[in-house]
Amino acid sequence: MPDFDLVIRHGTIATASDVFAADIGIIGGQVAALGRDLGPGVKEIDATGRLVLPGGVDTHTHIEEPRGGPTVNADTFASGTASAAVGGTTTIIGFARQARGGSMAQGVAEHHERARTARIDYSFHMILTDPRPEVLTQELPKLVESGHRTFKIFLTYEGARISDAEALQVLATARRLGALTCIHAENHELIDFYTKALLAAGLDRPKHHAWAKPMIVERECVNRVCAMAEALDVPIQVFHVSGGEAAEEIERAQQRGVKVWGETCTQYLVFTADDLDRPGFEGAKWLCSPAPRSTADQAALWEMIRRGVIQNVTSDHAPTRYAGPDGKSAVGLDAPFTKIPNGVPGLAARLPVLFSEGVVKGRIDLPTFVSITATHAAKLFGLHPKKGTIAVGSDADLAIWDPAKKVTLTASLMQDANDHTPYEGMEITGWPETTLVRGVTVVDQGKVLAPPGFGQFLPRGPYEMIQPRGVFPGPFNPVDGVAV
Ligand SMILES: [Zn+2]
Repeated sequence: MPDFDLVIRHGTIATASDVFAADIGIIGGQVAALGRDLGPGVKEIDATGRLVLPGGVDTHTHIEEPRGGPTVNADTFASGTASAAVGGTTTIIGFARQARGGSMAQGVAEHHERARTARIDYSFHMILTDPRPEVLTQELPKLVESGHRTFKIFLTYEGARISDAEALQVLATARRLGALTCIHAENHELIDFYTKALLAAGLDRPKHHAWAKPMIVERECVNRVCAMAEALDVPIQVFHVSGGEAAEEIERAQQRGVKVWGETCTQYLVFTADDLDRPGFEGAKWLCSPAPRSTADQAALWEMIRRGVIQNVTSDHAPTRYAGPDGKSAVGLDAPFTKIPNGVPGLAARLPVLFSEGVVKGRIDLPTFVSITATHAAKLFGLHPKKGTIAVGSDADLAIWDPAKKVTLTASLMQDANDHTPYEGMEITGWPETTLVRGVTVVDQGKVLAPPGFGQFLPRGPYEMIQPRGVFPGPFNPVDGVAV
């Protein structure tokens, strides 16, 4: 009788704290044993010379989100999660969106329908575009109770942004319900002022997108949301910190004890504003918000990762094809930057690029890589220890890496539904050859094996990490209206 359903032998395991040689015994989709010379499995995988890492947890992915305009989100859950698994990611969090004037519950219900084709496990953040009192007091308690435990708010973008007054109401609601709020923090009025001035001066090419939102618009807004979080004693995560100055605002808040966490994305570590200045309209492929910045900002972000100020690196996968009637170029090759859909694809590229640029180039060690790509995100979003680590009792979500494999990135390698990758031609070292979700091989040697629908929704209950501190800047708790 075999002892296990599956044994992965002779690999080198890395977690966020340790690197060690051990076999992994898997029963019923979970890690049942870690050790040398484990007994036989029904199936066995020889991982000699390979790293065995927790599958990636990508907590910022835009998949199959409806849009208003002519362009569309290129991926379905089937294609987006295939791409994720190809790149060694085994859990994603996507976004269910409330329509302006509409219901958040309806937005969540509709997104559950779309997500039925997911091939890997998933959860949702809820984008609140219209936090009316009845949404906050009647819909959100039920939605949080049913496992949708994160809110996302935008402070810029027409059609999505909410006011500071509304943001404070969302944060207060998050504190009362035990939810975490993630924030897109850029100063809308400043961007608007810059944009109008640029367009009036005839400066409307893709590269001017970066001119319209220099670091100061992000730095100011990050400072502001940290103050809101501190005033209401409510934890937040700041999405896509793009450079040193914004990260410094987060570090200062953290030093005051405020529960603010910073996320950056792969693209801010490898691209700069110069990528928006490629010939013709090509720069549109790199157009995202915040805008890619400078090599100095890249160095600052790596330093902030090493210092633990930024602990989560996501893809912010936001796929729009380049060609065709629904692609970025459909707005017209002469269109001003304000008409170009924001966002870059990057689900599959995230882990390999971060491994190569981070671990192989000596910027971070292997446990830090595991932490910023899987473990911290699982903890921050209430998925740990089921996801994000390799431990007895955890789901057997694993990526088996050839750490020496040389790969030239191409769009076809990504296996998403996009027609390009901004990482085209990038030469990297290290590649996840085999990806497992709950002990089942979902990708092997580039072949996607998991059928649509294999993925499961991950409801998220209450967890300690996002409990408020019980510390207010003054003698009054303004959320509950009581003296402290
Ligand atoms: Zn995003």
